[in-house]
Amino acid sequence: MGNEGGTIPSRSEILNFNEQKLEGAEKARNVSDKQLQLYELIGSYGYCRLSHKRLCKPIVSDYRGQLFNKEAILEFLIGSKANDDQFGYIKSSKDIVELNIDYDEDKGEIRCPISGEIYDLSDENDVLSRLRLCYIVPCGCTMNRVILDQLVDVEYDKQGIKKQTNGPIIQFECPVCMISARSRDIVDINSSDRAVRKQLERRMKLLEQEGLTHSLKRRRTRLKGKVAKKRKHTSSRSAHDRNTRDRNTRDVKSPHICFSSTEPQYNN
Ligand SMILES: [Zn+2]
Repeated sequence: MGNEGGTIPSRSEILNFNEQKLEGAEKARNVSDKQLQLYELIGSYGYCRLSHKRLCKPIVSDYRGQLFNKEAILEFLIGSKANDDQFGYIKSSKDIVELNIDYDEDKGEIRCPISGEIYDLSDENDVLSRLRLCYIVPCGCTMNRVILDQLVDVEYDKQGIKKQTNGPIIQFECPVCMISARSRDIVDINSSDRAVRKQLERRMKLLEQEGLTHSLKRRRTRLKGKVAKKRKHTSSRSAHDRNTRDRNTRDVKSPHICFSSTEPQYNN
């Protein structure tokens, strides 16, 4: 795991992101906590955490819900990243997920594909009061967290399962691309909520115990000789078994979110 303190841009980084709002160092010293929070949010939604350049598609995210330009991450992966304190946990492209995000870089706007709501990154009220986005792994579809929670809650009810803070995990269909996903694999983007960040760390630890990466792809282990061959054979066979089982399960019972006329409408 990397250095958790490195997940938030430093004060100077935040201020650099917003030079146009802060005229000179004298004014920067008088920035209030609320302004800092605002600048951090605008910075983290508008700029790549790694290169500090403006975010532009394709955009990817790590397990902490931080946003990066894919190009910057690929350059980072080619270079020597072993001793990188801040992003050393990104060891391969399996440690990131490419987002299916409706992001207009020129206008600085993000649109939720479910509700159609548009968040204007230059509108301070929008950023502070409404901007709460998340994405689903593995598809990367990005949407309003509150609305997705409501849809997943419907699925909990349908399956007769009581929702609790740390589980149980249920399966649901991504409301954007309809791929099957687990409730555990919803990642909040740029959350400053300590409990949410703890939850994301907990999820990653569980995935590591299962030999999985953030993208849910299997982590590569370095084995030699016969052990490696045997493992490869077993793993391809179990993947085949798993695929067959998944297919069969889907055919029999496929939990999904249903959009009928009786479902709540979110078109504002
Ligand atoms: Zn999706």
